[in-house]
Order: sequence, then C-alpha cells, then structure tokens
Amino acid sequence: MTLLTASPEETRALGRRLGRLLKPLDCVLLSGELGAGKTTFVQGLAKGAGCRGRVSSPTFSLARTYRGGRLNLHHLDLYRVEEGATGDIGLEEYARDPRAACVVEWPGAGRGYWPEDRLELSLSAARGGAARRVVVKARGARSRGLLRRLSPR
Ligand code: ADP
Ligand code: MG
Repeated sequence: MTLLTASPEETRALGRRLGRLLKPLDCVLLSGELGAGKTTFVQGLAKGAGCRGRVSSPTFSLARTYRGGRLNLHHLDLYRVEEGATGDIGLEEYARDPRAACVVEWPGAGRGYWPEDRLELSLSAARGGAARRVVVKARGARSRGLLRRLSPR
C-alpha cells in the first residue's frame, strides 16, 4: 500500500491511527533517509498508543521507552550501529517484550532480530516540498490485518 502525506501533521495522524491499533509484540520497522519523517511518524504512534513523554530520535541512546499508555512503546534508532554490532543492545528484549510494541528507525543493523510478522514502512520525499510517500508492507497475518485497518476508507 502506498500513501501520501502532505505535512508533518498528516504523518503524525497516520502514526496515531496505527498507534491506536497496536498490541504488545507488534513490530514496526521504519526506513527512509534522514529527515524523511520517521521520528515524526513515531510521535503520532506514541500518541495513538496513549503514551506520554516527548518523542525524539534515540540516535545516541539507541533506545527509549514511552510509558503510560495502553501498552509501552520501545523506540529504537540504529542509525549509528553497524550491521553485526548489535550484540550489546539486547534487541531481542525490546522486540520480544510481552508488554510493549516496538518501532525501529534504521532497522538494517538488526536484520535477523525482528519478528517475522512485522509492518515495514518506507518514507520518502514526494513531489518536492513537504509531501511524503509512505509505502507500507505487511509481513505476516497480524501485520496484514493492521495494514487493512490502516488503509484509507
Ligand atoms: P527522520 O526521523 O526520518 O530523520 P524526522 O521526523 O526527524 O525525520 O524529520 C522530518 C522533518 O521533515 C521534520 O522537520 C518535519 O517537520 C519535516 N516534514 C515536512 N513534511 C513532512 C511530512 N509530510 N511528514 C513528515 N515530516 C515532514
Ligand atoms: Mg529520526
């Protein structure tokens, strides 16, 4: 599925819609260049899950957890991590936390750790300006259900 968002607000709104649907153990991978809108999307996602706290890229801390909502949300950012150098981070603990969903920016370095059933979003600039193209792929039955409920009515 491909969607277009015209502004940061629309990207947040899309995130919020998905955030409302999230359940523990759901996994959302976000790819796209710097500035594509991944963190902006996570701001909406956290809101939709009812979590509190300011959302920003955990580029240096690698992981951050937002609480206070229907479920916890782990937010990972592996931008600075090289493939094969994820051993110390404990990615499994985040991705398999039975009380949390997990959203990952720059998931490449953690290839192999993510649940097989996951949503993959790829954001990119579209038509210049503020528009973004969001390509959503579902891998697995649970994610296909999420994708269906996320598609424009
Ligand atoms: P990333 O995490 O992918 O590096 P950020 O979400 O941190 O990207 O930054 C995206 C930047 O682009 C923000 O400054 C945001 O306001 C801006 N922006 C402009 N248009 C959009 C849009 N349609 N969706 C998301 N962000 C947008
Ligand atoms: Mg970011």
